[in-house]
Amino acid sequence: MTSTQRTHFETLLPHAGQGSLDGEPLVTPITQSTTFCRDGLTSEAQHCYSRQSNPTVAALEKTLGQLENAPPAVCYSTGLAAESALFLSLLSAGDHIVCSRALYGGTTRILQQIFPSFGVETSFVDTTSPEEVERALRLNTKLVFLETPSNPTLALTDLAAITEVAHRRGALVAVDNTFLTPLLQQPLDHGADFSIYSTTKFIEGHSVALGGATVTRSEEHLERLRFVRTCTGGIQTPFNAWLTLQGLKTLGVRLERQCASALSIAEWLNQHDAVERVHYPKFTAPAQRAIAERQHLGADGAVVSFELRSGTEGAKELLKKTELCRLVEHVGGVETLITHSASMTHGGVPKAERELVGVTEGLVRISVGLEPVSAIIADLENVIGSPSSQPQAEVTPCPAAL
Ligand SMILES: *Cc1c(COP(=O)(O)O)cnc(C)c1O
Repeated sequence: MTSTQRTHFETLLPHAGQGSLDGEPLVTPITQSTTFCRDGLTSEAQHCYSRQSNPTVAALEKTLGQLENAPPAVCYSTGLAAESALFLSLLSAGDHIVCSRALYGGTTRILQQIFPSFGVETSFVDTTSPEEVERALRLNTKLVFLETPSNPTLALTDLAAITEVAHRRGALVAVDNTFLTPLLQQPLDHGADFSIYSTTKFIEGHSVALGGATVTRSEEHLERLRFVRTCTGGIQTPFNAWLTLQGLKTLGVRLERQCASALSIAEWLNQHDAVERVHYPKFTAPAQRAIAERQHLGADGAVVSFELRSGTEGAKELLKKTELCRLVEHVGGVETLITHSASMTHGGVPKAERELVGVTEGLVRISVGLEPVSAIIADLENVIGSPSSQPQAEVTPCPAAL
């Protein structure tokens, strides 16, 4: 994204979904109605029934589309509803998916426990390696599903390289862009066919409304997505769409503050004696850093993960004793949120699989909030102490293959 484009998006955000006609409300109202009046049987009313479309949801969809230079998004009640609807739209019995192994636990669960009963099989591979993705592609592979940065170890996937391989072999590419949002990463510009979001996280940003969205520049795919949503339900509610629009207005300023603080916290942790390993793009292997430089738009996001040398016991103590950092299963709120991935977000993933993607028992994930960074660091320091005054040897870089 050029700086002009960024200025354009950041100018658009405070006006998300607003009207401008004489007498129109400045803020999009909540159209809390299940159904809409029609003027006779030949009526061409814009909205008929709120399972199909709704004016408040449409205002959110328009803004989310604009943020990726795309037609209006398709919005859902949750991020997982968006993912399920994408799979239902694209796949039939006998089809195959290639998917990042390091992935949001809920996505793994749908693909492992729901879709196999409908004859859709998934191979989970290390998508940080385009060669490994290529080897996993089969004649019946319809979709490559990626998450970058991955949750919680922030492994980065090269979107342009994977998209090139997938398209050459006739598969579509979808990217879960929840962690970075369109302001920090534009998957469609790297060739992906779909950007998919849990708007529950950074986009809504205040921990009050669940939501999901899919963005594509293909009218054909959009039509299919809308049809599947009308048939199966799962559309966003007007109230949650309204809350999400309200949150979206401050996304730019929130991310600016949260990413700057996340970088400072990662730097602090990186020189801390008690810390074994920090997962943040700035401190990863050179090949991974090169991906961040190509794909991320000026910042690496507001999530930092790390492992304490004291392992599980140390992590438990930290999670229990921090006061400002709130222990919850969530990212992207205005408060600093701290999570033990192995027992919380990835609790349903078998231990061996968790460890394969670096979700160890001692791993702690922080979603950095809007508090002053000094207060967040003081909260951590109360438990793990201050970094040694001795300059540390390099912290073990996280392996590129996570
Ligand atoms: C939370 C999350 C989801 C699921 O979203 P819900 O809105 O909770 O259904 C999907 N992907 C990622 C990366 C997430 O963090």
